[in-house]
Amino acid sequence: DPLQESDLKDLAELGMGNGGSVMKVEHVPSGIVMAKKIVLIDAKPTIRKQILRELHIMHACSSPYIVSSFGAFLSEPNICICMEFMDRGSFESIYKNIGRKIKLKGPRSSLLRANTWDSGDTEQVPGPIPIGIVRQVARCVLGGLVYLYEDMGVLHRDIKPSNILLNSEGQVKLCDFGVSGELENSVAKTFVGTSVYMSPERILGSDYTVKSDVWSLGVTLIELAHGCFPFSDTDEGESPLKSVSSATLPSALSKRASSRKSRRISVHTGVGSLSILELMHHIVQEPPPTLITPSVQHSLTTEADEFVGNCLKKDPVSRLNPRELLGTSWMDNDRTRKEMDLRTWAGTL
Ligand code: ATP
Ligand code: MG
Repeated sequence: DPLQESDLKDLAELGMGNGGSVMKVEHVPSGIVMAKKIVLIDAKPTIRKQILRELHIMHACSSPYIVSSFGAFLSEPNICICMEFMDRGSFESIYKNIGRKIKLKGPRSSLLRANTWDSGDTEQVPGPIPIGIVRQVARCVLGGLVYLYEDMGVLHRDIKPSNILLNSEGQVKLCDFGVSGELENSVAKTFVGTSVYMSPERILGSDYTVKSDVWSLGVTLIELAHGCFPFSDTDEGESPLKSVSSATLPSALSKRASSRKSRRISVHTGVGSLSILELMHHIVQEPPPTLITPSVQHSLTTEADEFVGNCLKKDPVSRLNPRELLGTSWMDNDRTRKEMDLRTWAGTL
């Protein structure tokens, strides 16, 4: 049966992005819990129908690394896309909350603070994700990219922590991939929200290839392993504390962009600020970010650093493709036995 709005009951809001919001809903006739993405689009009826047709490709996807789709429908002026609900959310929310603390209301002595658990809300505190977990996430993302590219003939086009989801079974799956060119054209996305993970060749206007997805993966892996967005205007010698304070960079960028009063979008990086154009200039002109930096080297191996280096080659010709990356030593399956598995880790969140 086709999905219809009247069969869905809202349960909770899961998050809000640049192009729309995502609700946790129950499909009442079947009892299935789903994630409903609501996208406000600015398009004529013929284009809307075209978008729905294009979204059908999602239905045909069947991979352990791709979020499954239950279907899409028009709900004027929105398009709703119903997908598998991933109960541990995105890796963006995971790393941004990994160090969460109980926030206490009102001033209290530090002694009291340490012993009190009963009041206040939780505070978002970002932190690094263990490198063994990051490694397993990388394998899943590559599995998803290979599937999309080789079996479905599509590129993802929007690899970033918020589009990599986790469930309590320890499955890691990609969502929001570029099946619909028309949808892409019709969503009023801000320039800023889509550009911070962009490869140098994309910034310079070349065609999108699977290598561009690989660049975005490299930036994403550093962000997860460091617990903060890798680009800042102070490359070397910053203290770990300062780099943690730049952790909200991408969301700060998009918030500024959507509620912008001035044309200059600045980004607070702990020490200074970087406009979006400065960031893009930096991506094109400066050496790529690296996993191992003077301030972040704890438990990071040369192999991991090399892997990320192969994702972040500025020239797409020397950058490895997803299948080549799966063949590198850091991706060797034997390691998984020595690491905490994703399912166990998901249970600790
Ligand atoms: P942008 O709009 O810039 O792409 P985004 O990816 O954060 O940013 P959305 O795609 O609208 O924006 O998603 C909003 C949030 O909803 C995500 O960050 C994620 O935490 C949550 N979410 C999305 N899809 C699912 C899902 N299938 N299951 C559970 N949570 C989801
Ligand atoms: Mg998304």
